Formats: sequence, C-alpha cells, structure tokens
Amino acid sequence: MDLGIKGKTAIVCASSKGLGRACAFSLAREGVDLIITARGSESLEETAREIRDATGVKVTAVASDIATEAGRVAVLAACPDPDILVNNAGGPPPGDFRNWTRDTWIAALDLNMIAPIEMIRATVDHMIARKFGRIVNITSSTVKAPIEILGLSNGARAGLTGFVAGIARKTVAHNVTINNLLPGPFDTDRLRANFAVIAKNRGISVDEARKDRMSQNPSGRLGDPAEFGDACAYLCSAQAGFVTGQNFLIDGGGYPGTL
Ligand code: NAP
Repeated sequence: MDLGIKGKTAIVCASSKGLGRACAFSLAREGVDLIITARGSESLEETAREIRDATGVKVTAVASDIATEAGRVAVLAACPDPDILVNNAGGPPPGDFRNWTRDTWIAALDLNMIAPIEMIRATVDHMIARKFGRIVNITSSTVKAPIEILGLSNGARAGLTGFVAGIARKTVAHNVTINNLLPGPFDTDRLRANFAVIAKNRGISVDEARKDRMSQNPSGRLGDPAEFGDACAYLCSAQAGFVTGQNFLIDGGGYPGTL
C-alpha cells in the first residue's frame, strides 16, 4: 500500500536507536525526508548514514537533548514546519516514589510530557495552515496498565495522554491528527539494559532474564522495533486522516483487558 506521504518531511525525536529509529526507517521507506535527533552524535550520524544509504531520502541529524528548550530550538531551527512529528525520548528511571523529590518529578515531566507538548505547540499551527499534519507520540503500555516502580513514567505519560485527548479533536477538522503509540516489550537497547539489571539482581544469566520476560508475554516473544515503526508510518499516512486521539497498544497481547 502506498501511504501517500512521499516527499513530505518528518521530525522524528530521539531516533538514533530503538523505537524512534524504527519509526524513522519506516517513514524513510515511504519517501519521507527526515530530521532525526538524539543527544549522542556518533550513533545519530551512523543512523542517518544507514537510512540515507538504504532509502535515498534526505536525512538531517541534530544532536540535542529534546527535554531542554535549547535542544528543541536546535531541532526546530533545522525544520520549523514539518508535515509529520514523531515525539519520543528516553524513559525516566524506575524507583520508589518515597525517594522522588519535586526536582525528580519536574525532570520526568520535562522528558515525557512537556517536551512533546512544546514540540506540538511549535508545529501544529503550520500543519493546520497547510491542511496536512500527522503527530505521533511514543508513550508506553504503562499508560493503560501502570507498573508500580515506573511511577514517574506512569504519571508523566498520563499527563501527555490527557492533553492530547483534548486537542486531537480540534485539529482533525484541518486534516491534522494526533495519536499515541503504546509499546509493550520491544527488543531495544533499553529493554536489553533492563535484562542485565534483572539478571544481576536475581543471580541468573542475561539470556535467562530475556527468556523469562518473553514467556510472560502471550506472544512468547519480544516485539521487533520494525513492527512498531510500520504502525507509526501508517498513522502518518494520507489514509489515516480519520484516526485521531487514539491510544494504540502494540504489546503482543500483554494487556489483559477486553477493551
Ligand atoms: P532506546 O533503545 O534506549 O533508544 C532511545 C533513543 O532515544 C536513543 O536514540 C537515545 O539516544 C534517544 N534519547 C533518549 N533521551 C533523549 C533525549 N533527552 N533527547 C533526545 N534523544 C534522546 O529506547 P526505546 O526502547 O526505543 O524506548 C523509546 C521510548 O519508548 C522510551 O521513552 C521508553 O521508555 C518507551 N518504551 C519502550 C519500551 C520497550 O520495550 N522498548 C516499552 C515501553 C515504553 P541518546 O541516548 O544518544 O540521546
């Protein structure tokens, strides 16, 4: 299926690795030019090279921290009016809420709530004027099924989700949609780092920790980031103009509810 977005331009935040990288790749395969971002420039430049070589699209790499005002200014200077915006960042650390201070919470909100809202604020009116815009926020399955030790993520992402639910119903009249993609366990550096910690804490091998996590999911496996990237590309497609304000869970059936 031709997604009808060839020649458009996308900002994909936090995309040198993992789910962001997969979204960038899937959009590039559809002929979308890219602005990709991450804090570390080495892997970002490498990803930019790989995408250019594989797809031939124009890829601009901006090394910056998307959780900061300066970081967002740098990204928006490279592309002030994208057709497509994919919001993403790292996740806040796990822990016990008793140890979290106001500063801990502000850092989590900056990362997973304020950064995407500020990126939307900077770009959505250009999209409305152009009568085309697609915004996808990468959140987490924990929005639907919170994990206790991920309280910072549960709280910050719920705030973003509530904000999006309101404005997504206003922008759609202008062919500008805003949706959230909720990953369950995907095979990325982030999850692999968790396996190393779990293995150490439980005195098992990293491979055992990985197999254990896989067996907890109804699919019996981890998600492939490419599966996530292609779902993102669909939400950014011309055909998806009637889809807005939705929270799409991609979790191999991990969420146990009927709805
Ligand atoms: P990942 O493999 O660790 O990749 C994270 C990417 O984001 C890297 O390119 C990283 O590059 C970049 N990044 C992190 N913080 C950034 C910042 N402040 N500014 C700009 N770039 C930043 O992680 P992932 O698994 O793809 O996860 C992506 C998001 O999905 C996270 O918020 C995570 O919590 C959420 N999530 C993931 C899973 C999963 O199973 N993988 C499940 C649920 C939710 P630099 O480090 O160089 O900046």
